[in-house]
Amino acid sequence: MNIPSKLIAFVSLFSVVVFVFAADHPVASVSADAALAKLKEGNTRFVNSKVSAGKPTAARRAETAQSQHPFAIILGCADSRTSPEIIFDQNIGDIFVVRNAGNLVDDHALGSIEYGVEHLGARLIVVLGHERCGAVTAALASDNAPGHLQSVVRDIQPAVQATKGKPGDATDLAVAENARLMAAKVRSDANLGDLAKDVRIISAVYDLDSGKVDFGKE
Ligand SMILES: [Zn+2]
Repeated sequence: MNIPSKLIAFVSLFSVVVFVFAADHPVASVSADAALAKLKEGNTRFVNSKVSAGKPTAARRAETAQSQHPFAIILGCADSRTSPEIIFDQNIGDIFVVRNAGNLVDDHALGSIEYGVEHLGARLIVVLGHERCGAVTAALASDNAPGHLQSVVRDIQPAVQATKGKPGDATDLAVAENARLMAAKVRSDANLGDLAKDVRIISAVYDLDSGKVDFGKE
């Protein structure tokens, strides 16, 4: 192989590497700050019963059928009253949602979150707890539960212990603390590489009565 062909081979290889890297890390769907503003605006529409009409449409389905660019990741509770697409008035393809009872961070949740950031371009991560959470209520009642519920009440115990004896409603306090602790866990354990500097991770609590989401501090 003479010098020019070596050079061409190197440049070709470099181009492929750049292409693959670019494909693996799509640009941010929107910035974290813009994503938070969109969630707040959507929640305000939901609270005021001014939700967008007629979605999801066939057009939006066609637009998102081949690829997705969600602007936020939400780790929420499996509770049937807290569906993020509804309470933030968003459409299919808008938010990447991970849910389990108690909005807990485990390896599957972390893997899903890392995928949403690295491969789908989301830069905002919200851990969303909610009022009267059954999982938190169970964890407050006992650190023991039958079957696999045991792992749920076990992982909420740090929030129960941290808020024990504090003034206020025990469930409300533990719900907010659990969301805050889980957001901290995402911050410390998610492997986001050099994208971490662009990512915001916040906790929030959804009010079942008013429909309002109260965003906590980072
Ligand atoms: Zn819940």
